[in-house]
Amino acid sequence: MNIFEAVKENVTARQAAEMYGIRVNRNGMACCPFHDDRYPSMKVDKRFHCFGCQADGDVIDFAARLYGLNNLGAAMKLTSDFGISYDNKGRASPRPVKKKISEELRLKQAELQCCRILSEYNHLLGKWKTEYAPETLGEEWHPLFVEALQKQTYTEYLLDTLLAGTTEEKAAIVKEHGKEVIRIGERISGLVARHKAGRDEHSRLAPTGTDGR
Ligand SMILES: [Zn+2]
Repeated sequence: MNIFEAVKENVTARQAAEMYGIRVNRNGMACCPFHDDRYPSMKVDKRFHCFGCQADGDVIDFAARLYGLNNLGAAMKLTSDFGISYDNKGRASPRPVKKKISEELRLKQAELQCCRILSEYNHLLGKWKTEYAPETLGEEWHPLFVEALQKQTYTEYLLDTLLAGTTEEKAAIVKEHGKEVIRIGERISGLVARHKAGRDEHSRLAPTGTDGR
């Protein structure tokens, strides 16, 4: 098994897309990184295919195109990012490696998920801070305004650590705050959905608690 086969055996185009920060929806569709794609038109599975620009190929073609590498460079990047080791005859050693991949991948995906949720939350907090700011002195503060004041610094700290921290620091954030972040994610997707649905948004947007949980 050569390096190309080792990579293709161990990593799908979908896993690579997710690892490299591309959001893949439940139907396996993603916004194509190879053309200006506003709605997901790329199918990612074991291979990838874009119905918009016809980009098509396997996981190695995907990484090569995404990072402007040749096929060998892309295969080497994938072996290193997914922890695939192969001996100098090019044979992969799948058993211990697979376990390592799944652990590293799980952590990496958890980090990416936390990052996505926290940046969305941070963006919302910024919006609430202006949208719900009291207009008159003595007016009762909107709970979302209070939440923005209380939570923004903390959210930025978590986000900064996930973006720029060491591997250990990132892992610690996921371990200690992962569940809390997931709950924030569930809550804000509920808020956003209701906000989109419209009607009577002030009372509907009011959170169940002001502590962000
Ligand atoms: Zn495309």
